Amino acid sequence: MAIALVTGASRGIGKATALQLAREGYTVAVNYHHNIKAATDVINQIVEEGGKAFALRADISDEAQVMAMFESLDREGEPLTALVNNAGILFEQSTIENLSAERINRVLATNVTGYFLCCREAVKRMALKHGGKGGAIVNVSSAASRLGAPGEYVDYAASKGAVDSLTTGLSLEVAAQGIRVNCVRPGLIYTEIHASGGEPGRVDRVKSMLPMQRGGQPEEVAQAIVWLLSEKASYVTGSFIELAGGK
Ligand code: NAD
Repeated sequence: MAIALVTGASRGIGKATALQLAREGYTVAVNYHHNIKAATDVINQIVEEGGKAFALRADISDEAQVMAMFESLDREGEPLTALVNNAGILFEQSTIENLSAERINRVLATNVTGYFLCCREAVKRMALKHGGKGGAIVNVSSAASRLGAPGEYVDYAASKGAVDSLTTGLSLEVAAQGIRVNCVRPGLIYTEIHASGGEPGRVDRVKSMLPMQRGGQPEEVAQAIVWLLSEKASYVTGSFIELAGGK
C-alpha cells in the first residue's frame, strides 16, 4: 500500500488520525517527539486492529532530525503518499507585553518551520517530476488563525496564520505535480494541549461562546483529515475545513 506520515501522532488529534488512517489501509508512520511509550501504544492499537504502523522519533523543528526521519521512510519500501502536519505547541495565556522572543521563536520553529520542513521533504518524494506517485498533504492549522487570540496567545494565532498561507501557496506550487495540499482549522478540541495553561474554567468559557455549545473530539477532526487525504477529495486542493462548532 502506501505510507502516511502523521507528525505528533502519539496523542490527541494526531493519534486519532493515525488510527483512522490505518483503518483506511495506510501503513502509518507515527512521528513522536519524546514519548516513545505513547507512540508504541498507538502502534500496538493499530496492529491489534490488523493495521500496519511504525514509530519515527523527530523534533520537527530540527532540520537534521526531519531529514533523518524522511530518510528512514525511504528505507521502508513503500511510497509516501500522505503527510499530516499536525505536531504543534501552545504555551500558556499571555498578553503581548509578556511574550519573550524565546517563546515566539519556539512557537514559530515548531508550528511553522516544522511544517515547512516536512512539506519540503514530502514534496521531494511525492512530486511526479521527481519520480513520485503524487500524494496529499493536510496541514493542521487552528480557528485562531482567523479569530486571533487577543490577550491569550497571539504568537500561536500568528503561527497558524502562516500555516494557512503555506497551504495556499504550496497547493498552487505543487498542483501540477500530483500533490494536493489542504488544511483543517480546529476550534476547541478536547486534547492535552489545553493542559499547558490558561485560567481556571477557560475551556468552559470558550465552549459557552460556541454556536454548537460544545468542544470537539479529536476523532471529529481526524475524519476530515482522512477525507481530505482520500480519493474522495481528488479535486480538492488549497481548501480549508473549519472544525470549530460553528465559530
Ligand atoms: P497535543 O498537545 O495533544 O498534541 C500535539 C503533539 O505534537 C504531541 O504529541 C507533541 O508531542 C507533538 N509535538 C509538539 N512539538 C513537537 C515537535 N517539535 N516535534 C514533534 N512532535 C511535537 O495537542 P492536539 O490538540 O492534538 O494538537 C494537534 C494539532 O492541532 C496542533 O497543531 C494544534 O495546534 C492543533 N489544534 C488543536 C486545537 C485543540 O483545541 N486541541 C485547536 C486548534 C488547533
